[in-house]
Amino acid sequence: YFRFKMFVHDNYVRGNENIQVPAHLNFGKYILDKIKLRNDEIALENSDTGEKLTYKEFTQYAVNLSTLLTKLGVGRGDTVAVGSEKRNEFVPTVLGIVFTGATYTPYDLKSGRAALKHKLSVAKPKYFICSHTFWTMYSDILKSFDCIHKLFTLDDAMDDGVSIKSLILSDVDVNRFEPASVHGQIDTAFILYSSGTTGMPKGVQLTHLNCILNSLPDDFSDESLKTAFLFGEWYHNYDTFMTYKFLALGRKIVYVNHATPESFLKSVENNQVNIAFVVPSLVGYLSKADDAEKYNLSSLHTIYSRSSPLHSKTIKTVKSRFPKLKNILQGYGMTEAGELTSESWGTKGSKLGSVGMASPGITLKVVDSETRKILGPNERGEICLRGPVFMKGYVGVDPSIYLDEEGFFKTGDLGYYDEDRYFYIVDRMKEIIVYDGYKVAPLELETILQSHPEVYEAGVVGKPVPDYGEEPTAFVVRQPGSNVTEKELIDYVSTEVPPYMQLRGGVNFIEKLPRNPRGKILRHQLRNMLN
Ligand code: AMP
Repeated sequence: YFRFKMFVHDNYVRGNENIQVPAHLNFGKYILDKIKLRNDEIALENSDTGEKLTYKEFTQYAVNLSTLLTKLGVGRGDTVAVGSEKRNEFVPTVLGIVFTGATYTPYDLKSGRAALKHKLSVAKPKYFICSHTFWTMYSDILKSFDCIHKLFTLDDAMDDGVSIKSLILSDVDVNRFEPASVHGQIDTAFILYSSGTTGMPKGVQLTHLNCILNSLPDDFSDESLKTAFLFGEWYHNYDTFMTYKFLALGRKIVYVNHATPESFLKSVENNQVNIAFVVPSLVGYLSKADDAEKYNLSSLHTIYSRSSPLHSKTIKTVKSRFPKLKNILQGYGMTEAGELTSESWGTKGSKLGSVGMASPGITLKVVDSETRKILGPNERGEICLRGPVFMKGYVGVDPSIYLDEEGFFKTGDLGYYDEDRYFYIVDRMKEIIVYDGYKVAPLELETILQSHPEVYEAGVVGKPVPDYGEEPTAFVVRQPGSNVTEKELIDYVSTEVPPYMQLRGGVNFIEKLPRNPRGKILRHQLRNMLN
């Protein structure tokens, strides 16, 4: 157990501490109490297919599913996985699981085979709910995991999977339904995944209280934000919790099957979108693309960007090209702690280049990464955080590895705050590569490369590219006598990983990997070799 010192430090930066959460601390109940107040308003719309789900349908689906799962024995202590493409049933399925008191964990269609196997071995779900597409791609992997006792499908029945639709016989009375009671500070509602600062992806356990704090909608309560567009996927914390914020407000959420700049522009025009949650590459696209002006984007007054740095120059250019766009706001967040800072909290409006002020309930400090001394305004160091929004912990990892002696989480991000306590992110100290907002763990790619019979050892780093962040790039030492080619290795990796993880930066063959005396790969030396 940790014992933390009790003293106030002038250079701790705190978000608002006077925030209200419901006393039941039950995430499912918190959302249900809000959504059941609505009826025929649209909750979700797939902008490509035009399929809509009203709040009434959404709530009924979640309540029916939850009742069914409970009858089948699902409850507190169980983990239920969802593997699916984006579709209207996705979010109410998650709530149906959480209402039972069980833990939900997502498996993304595009994260690839290696990541799926790894994440299954971390969370060990007992139940699996998947779409037909997911089953077609990964049934062999699901069958090989003994932890999975029962499989359900969102579509028609198949092989080992029972169709949820066929099991739900009649509608449950929503007004008489109540989610199972939970211990909100202890029970894990969600397990999401993050690479943290180093190593393979880890299971981030978020309690019910964490999820409620992540979903408090106050910063977006402005009436003018009626329709929100989501660029990302529901396995990522950013899109997940922006969705719950907007559901809590009873607003409409629009998404597309395949997020591209064109599908984004079309969707904004067709759905009169007011706020779009995007990543920096999309803002970069708007700063350059000529075809953007062909669309009527007059409804769009706020763009919110998170996941990787957004350059001030890009913001200025987009604002001058689209004068109706009032706000381009940035947030800084992570799976382990949700939104750490946001310009939507800014007491002095938005500040160019800043990621805003500390979110409610968060305490931040910036420390010298060598001496661990707490720094003051305008001094650069590692950003650390503490507070009730911070996760319960990684599955199976000792907290002493990621917490400091004051109980703060070491983010691995380098930044500072100014005199007004607005934060700025300068760089990443951690080894994670960010490509187009997606996080790529070098170790994951190194492990795949190393499994190739002609690879002796491999090191992976990010090569900087404008607007997209960094492209994964490999340094490989071949086995003696091997002539394996760059293309062969790129193709080998591509069968195991999603598009964003591919070795876009290429493969460099070298004689020996630089390592420290303890055998750790010296990635900064590899990065220098890129120049
Ligand atoms: P994830 O857990 O996938 O959300 O990734 C969290 C990490 O993304 C953070 O620790 C940062 O390194 C990075 N990140 C998130 N938002 C920003 C931002 N606005 N500017 C720079 N880096 C960011």
